[in-house]
Amino acid sequence: MKEHLKNDAAQMDHILDIIKKQGTEYLNSIEDRPTTINEAFEPAHTELSQTGYGTEETLKIFNERFEPIMVGSSGPRYWGFVTGGSTPASIAGDWLATIYDQNPQSVKEQGDISANIEMETIQLLLKLLQLPNNFLGGFVTGATMSNFTCMAVARQWLGKQQGRDIAKDGLSEPVKVLTATAHSSSIKSLSLLGSGSSNIIRIKTEDDREAISISDLEDQILRLNGEPFLLISSGGTVNTVDFDNFVEIKRLKEKYNFWWHIDAAFGGFAACSEGYRHLLEGWEYADSITVDCHKWLNVPYESAVFLIKDQYKILQVETFQNSNAPYLGDPLDSFGYLNFLPENSRRLKALPAWFSIMAYGKEGYRDIVENNVSLAKQFGQFVESSNDFKLLAPVRLNTVCFTLKDDNKQDEVIRFMELLNNTGKVFMTPTFYNQHTGIRAAFVNWQTNESDIRLVFDLMNDIITTLK
Ligand SMILES: *Cc1c(COP(=O)(O)O)cnc(C)c1O
Repeated sequence: MKEHLKNDAAQMDHILDIIKKQGTEYLNSIEDRPTTINEAFEPAHTELSQTGYGTEETLKIFNERFEPIMVGSSGPRYWGFVTGGSTPASIAGDWLATIYDQNPQSVKEQGDISANIEMETIQLLLKLLQLPNNFLGGFVTGATMSNFTCMAVARQWLGKQQGRDIAKDGLSEPVKVLTATAHSSSIKSLSLLGSGSSNIIRIKTEDDREAISISDLEDQILRLNGEPFLLISSGGTVNTVDFDNFVEIKRLKEKYNFWWHIDAAFGGFAACSEGYRHLLEGWEYADSITVDCHKWLNVPYESAVFLIKDQYKILQVETFQNSNAPYLGDPLDSFGYLNFLPENSRRLKALPAWFSIMAYGKEGYRDIVENNVSLAKQFGQFVESSNDFKLLAPVRLNTVCFTLKDDNKQDEVIRFMELLNNTGKVFMTPTFYNQHTGIRAAFVNWQTNESDIRLVFDLMNDIITTLK
């Protein structure tokens, strides 16, 4: 064994100590950590050292070069995209997932049987989201991969409806896909799945909404003359957190033959609260559901779950089995994740989620969700009562979509947002909604509190004055 590796192995205790110290310092001051880096950063053409530096010296290099560009993205005022955070328990689970370094693939074979932990975590998550246990689930890197996984099985189902095995024989023509306001990652998944991102039948939305118009959906279905299709519906759109009418979609599903997928990446967590659960009424009848854990569950990246009705187990295996590897055994005989989802070797992604759900329970998550929604509503009220800003959509859940009040100042919206983000105190992202350039603030972090929204609104008012 070479010197540095030998020394490192001998002083693991010390290495973990210094990392722990640095980690706690970071987490304890995350509120003050800038949310943006305003200087350019160029990756260097680092020489690859002959002997290496050892961990402690490498940490010094990291601290000199990379640490300064770490932004407070898991802190309380990073409101761009839909960014969660990391609860203390999830960090504990994440560290242990690294240390134990399991590769969850099988529940029955000898050796590593940590897939059982993943299955147990899925059951806990179903309970947290108040979903029935007839879903088979698994962890993937993010909602993008979850959408991909669900739609890959939908594609196989669509082929079977016409007597074809697409996983084996490939696509002979694009599958029929209907959607209104699908997330970009679903469209990307259609590209990856060979169906093509432009072969989509767009359904109209309800007036002034992002939700599917049920009457237009039915019209489009009738136009297909009984041909089966994939419906991509939304359990929380990113702009206005709109939910499709799942009760009505269920009614249509009883009449017509289609695969029903719901992207509930973050909106699914509305189920944690009595007050907002009604938004998801009927979602348990979907064939597949996407839920992101690195958003509202507040576990570190990369963590999301796909949920597919267990009646489609065989289609799932047909889609993902390692069919030319006899040493992996009969995929249906021993539950093996590597035959149920896109990846083969994976880390024990479920452990941070398991820790966090166990540590905080139903009430802990209800509280996170309700706190975020109440902050969003309050921030929405600040915007509404202001002379300089206006809402682009009502605040339905945890996201505030707004713009400058004066329509003649549309050109200045992005400039305003950049000035705001440049303060390093908050981070928001741009959007375009209802013919307006807008700004989104998404509340998804367990640490955000009322002083944060006041601080940000004060900053917004200061900046708008400088623009006048
Ligand atoms: C964030 C998001 C995605 C994509 O999720 P990743 O975790 O970034 O892959 C998909 N759908 C919705 C509704 C989202 O909010």
